[in-house]
Amino acid sequence: MERTLFLDRDGVVNVQLIGDYVKNISELEIREDFLRSIPLLRENFQKIVIVTNQQGIAKGICTRENVETVHQYLLDWLKERGLIINKIYVCPHLAGAGCTCRKPEIGMALQAQADFPDIDFAHSVMIGDSASDMQFGRRCGMETVFIGKVTDENREVILKNSDHIVSSIYQYISQQ
Ligand SMILES: [Mg+2]
Ligand SMILES: [Zn+2]
Repeated sequence: MERTLFLDRDGVVNVQLIGDYVKNISELEIREDFLRSIPLLRENFQKIVIVTNQQGIAKGICTRENVETVHQYLLDWLKERGLIINKIYVCPHLAGAGCTCRKPEIGMALQAQADFPDIDFAHSVMIGDSASDMQFGRRCGMETVFIGKVTDENREVILKNSDHIVSSIYQYISQQ
């Protein structure tokens, strides 16, 4: 059975910049627990895609080209370390703009399925650090893994939509 992993980017693959966006490769710092998880991610998943909300583009804080450059670098960097990411999907729109691709909407999952028709959501896992990631995964019928902090603000949505709540991606993947 082919399994697909859907990954959020900021706070999962790379360190989240508080109140800012990754605009160039010097601002991209890969998380330690993600790096450590690479061999196990390869073993457990036949396909891996990243789905990321980047409203900094709509805000004019960074351009699509900035984001593309960072993503090409990220793909190459991970490939050198043995991890193939099949594709990175980006929602460039503002929160509240009503697009169908910003998580928790599932447009990026549908796009991935259109690109790779053998993706089966019932055999997919979504790993993220925000409530919208968990809602996205749950709406698609994926297994959902929350690796962020449960707070008073997000508790209700997280508890309702997360199959696993763990402290790191490594904690989840090392238990598989
Ligand atoms: Mg995130
Ligand atoms: Zn969008």
